[in-house]
Amino acid sequence: MGSDRGADPGPVEWLEAAPVALGGPRGLGVTRTLPNKGRRTVGAWCFLDAYGPHELAGSAGMRVGPHPHIGLQTVSWLVSGEVLHRDSLGSLREIRPGQLNLMTAGRGISHSEETPAEHTPVLQGVQLWVALPDSDRDVAPAFDTYADLPVVADGGLAATVLLGTLAGATSPARAYTPLVGAEITLAAGSDSRLPLQSDFEYAVLALDGAATVDGATLKPGPLLYLGTGRTSLRLAAGSPARVLLLGGEPFEERLVMWWNFVARDHDEIVQARAEWESGSGFGTVHGYDGPAIPAPPMPITRLLPRSRVR
Ligand code: MN
Repeated sequence: MGSDRGADPGPVEWLEAAPVALGGPRGLGVTRTLPNKGRRTVGAWCFLDAYGPHELAGSAGMRVGPHPHIGLQTVSWLVSGEVLHRDSLGSLREIRPGQLNLMTAGRGISHSEETPAEHTPVLQGVQLWVALPDSDRDVAPAFDTYADLPVVADGGLAATVLLGTLAGATSPARAYTPLVGAEITLAAGSDSRLPLQSDFEYAVLALDGAATVDGATLKPGPLLYLGTGRTSLRLAAGSPARVLLLGGEPFEERLVMWWNFVARDHDEIVQARAEWESGSGFGTVHGYDGPAIPAPPMPITRLLPRSRVR
């Protein structure tokens, strides 16, 4: 599949994972690779948290109380386990591995995520955000699930397309900018080549096992940024592995990202924060057994819009 002719990729970058606590010190351990110190976005993908595998025995599992979003889409994807989603549109949905939860915040939504009472023993997944372009960031909020996503297969490689298009397969989920997100499983001994779009930048995160990505060995932890200019990507594995491929047209709009908000300037963040704190503008999440998450205090200095590379 694909060919290397015409490719002129730049050097790869290793974006190191930062540990974060989701839901406080007793919450799940999470590693964040986007935004990263030197690179804030890959296409319009602007946030990437990976968690697990966690053994849930004796713990409450995921407990993320109601909180607001603006200006983005959230993509929830599980490798194992279950997460129960509630939002201010009235959605109540339990997702499982292989199913996409896509929440479009647009001008404003609030939601909660929790491990359901009945659950399997191990939780593992990724939480991603996609920045909405200025032309569409005020769209009405929406929540959709997709259990039947297209799969691209080649030898021992199988790529499930979450969002966008890969190798001619297009996800039914709506994206607002040219991009792609795919989970790729590699069987033991697999060695395949996936066609890429040379005008997209790409990055790969290992979820399980070790994969060889264009000759580099990738294990869970850092995000391998591949840049633009590639027409194909060689993926191989000696033993079973699973990776996440992200890509898209480089997102040139400057963003202010603060807490759960993606905006364009400081004042929009101040307004969104004030609306959340006053209980207006983000609706109500019903049925979550716990408090909503208060916004942190604003920083003393004004938030500055950032470009994709800083
Ligand atoms: Mn959220």
